[in-house]
Amino acid sequence: MNWYRQSIRYLQGIGEKRAVALEKAGISFVEDLLTYFPRKYLDRSQISKIRQLRIGQNATVVGQVVDFRLFPGRRPRFVLRLADETGELNCVWFHGANYMKNVFQIGEVLAVHGKVRFFRGYQISHPEYDRLGTGKESESLHTGKIIPLYPSSKQLSEVNLDSRGFRRLLWSLLGDYSRQIEENLPPKVIAQYKLLSRRAALNAVHFPDSMEQLQDAQRRLKFEELFFLELMMAYRRLRWRRPEKGIAFERVGERTRHLVERLPFQLTEGQKQVLREIVADMKKPIPMNRLLQGDVGSGKTVVALVSMLIAVENGYQAALMAPTEILAEQHYLTFHHFLEGLGVRVALLIGNQSKKQRQEILEGIAHGKIEVVVGTHALIQEGVNFPKLGLVVIDEQHRFGVMQRAELCQKGYHPNVLVMTATPIPRTLSLTIYGDLDISILDEKPAERATIRTTWRFEDKRDDIYLFVRQQVLQGQQAYVVFPLVEKSEKMDLLAATESFEKLRTSIFKDIPMALLHGRLRSDEKEKIMNEFKAGNIKILVSTTVIEVGIDVPNATIMVIEHAERFGLTQLHQLRGRVGRGLQKSYCILIAKKPLATEAWKRLETMVRTNDGFKIAEVDLQLRGPGEFFGVRQHGLPNLKIADIISDSKILLEARRAAFELVESDPALKSDEHQAVRNYFLEHYQEKMELGKVA
Ligand code: ADP
Ligand code: MG
Repeated sequence: MNWYRQSIRYLQGIGEKRAVALEKAGISFVEDLLTYFPRKYLDRSQISKIRQLRIGQNATVVGQVVDFRLFPGRRPRFVLRLADETGELNCVWFHGANYMKNVFQIGEVLAVHGKVRFFRGYQISHPEYDRLGTGKESESLHTGKIIPLYPSSKQLSEVNLDSRGFRRLLWSLLGDYSRQIEENLPPKVIAQYKLLSRRAALNAVHFPDSMEQLQDAQRRLKFEELFFLELMMAYRRLRWRRPEKGIAFERVGERTRHLVERLPFQLTEGQKQVLREIVADMKKPIPMNRLLQGDVGSGKTVVALVSMLIAVENGYQAALMAPTEILAEQHYLTFHHFLEGLGVRVALLIGNQSKKQRQEILEGIAHGKIEVVVGTHALIQEGVNFPKLGLVVIDEQHRFGVMQRAELCQKGYHPNVLVMTATPIPRTLSLTIYGDLDISILDEKPAERATIRTTWRFEDKRDDIYLFVRQQVLQGQQAYVVFPLVEKSEKMDLLAATESFEKLRTSIFKDIPMALLHGRLRSDEKEKIMNEFKAGNIKILVSTTVIEVGIDVPNATIMVIEHAERFGLTQLHQLRGRVGRGLQKSYCILIAKKPLATEAWKRLETMVRTNDGFKIAEVDLQLRGPGEFFGVRQHGLPNLKIADIISDSKILLEARRAAFELVESDPALKSDEHQAVRNYFLEHYQEKMELGKVA
């Protein structure tokens, strides 16, 4: 077995207790420990001497603990005196003072960081601090100028693996193993991108001699991490690309032209461009695997419609899967409207249809009579058999997992695939996450759109808000009122929505036709309500988030969102996207309940400030972090230890190019100089490749 796959249990200084704590933290092998990277570094040249401190300065001070004391009372306070050779500094804690008294030892060396104030001498309150060890040890461990600080946890600290403990452990580990660390990137890549060797980088990232060296080390390790990630993407794509397998659509003919002529509007330049990209893909004998990204309301549906007709013209079937019944129903109506006139048979397949109805549809599909099928998850159930499935479209793809996508594709033989999403993400990011997909971006909205005015208010303004809604409705507008509904508290949420609906219906809106829509209703009830709303017979639609995605009723111009503080930013933006679809000026009014958490406040403010899906996605990304935002697991991506796909996008692009070039030049990684890459890849990524297979 390779040395780096050795269990940490054989290492010096690791007994049973430590081993258990480390393994719980995900560190089982020597390699995990070597890649347990410092969370930050203390540069000795940035350390201030106490005598030279200035009031108001943000300073880092290293000194010895000379004394500490807890001052009890109504507001207890913990004061610690720290000394260097030039003077003394007081560190003060008000919060958690009782706890702090057990943390430190007299004589140990601390690094503290914070804003310097003057109160009976220099003082920092609530400093960030790191324990560097006792006097002698802290000196001997680091001859270097830069001290690495490691992340730790309560469990790890209990076995003395705080920052200091890790420093010791890694120091001795590198002493023993450093010479065995081998290169895992191709020599050509190392040379071309001027990278440090793996050995030098791992040494320097833990114990750097200078900040420059540290940066080089970090760049190398980030590059490596992203390189292997992209290598995985390159292989996934290769699998898609195996030429002999796909379907080549030769014709883009009469019926397609007729359809475009029958549309009530001109296609935008953006839509035409995207369609050209799709047509080019579909003409190739390689299956299309394309992501269409476009903000809410940018007009993705019609792109799907045209693409599906092309499949039909070439003698194939096409299927579109949407996340909700209401949306599937809407798409069905649209498609039916435009396609039946052209002699195309369109069907809707959802969960709640009668047995007889379902049977008829399934037979129609199985005999190839039904050419276009629009549906929900019901499409991927057993018994749905397409003899000639040539195109699969997934709408609002972020609502589905890779598995579901794959299941629908497996209903055909390497069909063309178009996935659509309104969650816009920066291009470099989509490259990583959807690295195996080609990407089309719809970045312009149909020109003639009214603006949406967004505001947020606390609940005490609710009466005024509904009065405004009433006035607008009396002038002919239609409105949505949305209530949150989350799985955890589904019953309560539904009850709250129902009660509020009743209250509105019997008071302020008593003379206005309205309806309540939620996921628990029967399909035909939902259908009826949506149709009435579309027809303008229902003026106010009170709803749970079932209308979140896709719904398109251009005459609706008011969106009121209750408990807006409970919604995520992307969700709010999606909901807002239900209005502003026509020429009339539209309003989005967010009602929030006190007390408002800072993050919720930021979300509401962001909504008011911008209607640009890209900007909103960026803020959402910042607030939630990439893992949450993308549902990392859903995409089968490995966790990144050192690289950050947002801030390291430049390195990401380089690593991507290098990885793709490698796969192009030596797909089986056969040549001698690629053996190290091959071995490393197989050892670390094989499993994830298997998962990728279904994507
Ligand atoms: P989304 O990208 O959010 O799925 P839709 O496809 O639902 O957007 O389109 C939003 C609205 O814009 C629909 O009412 C649609 O009919 C209309 N639309 C689409 N393309 C155009 C166009 N080129 N010009 C004018 N309106 C358009
Ligand atoms: Mg849509």
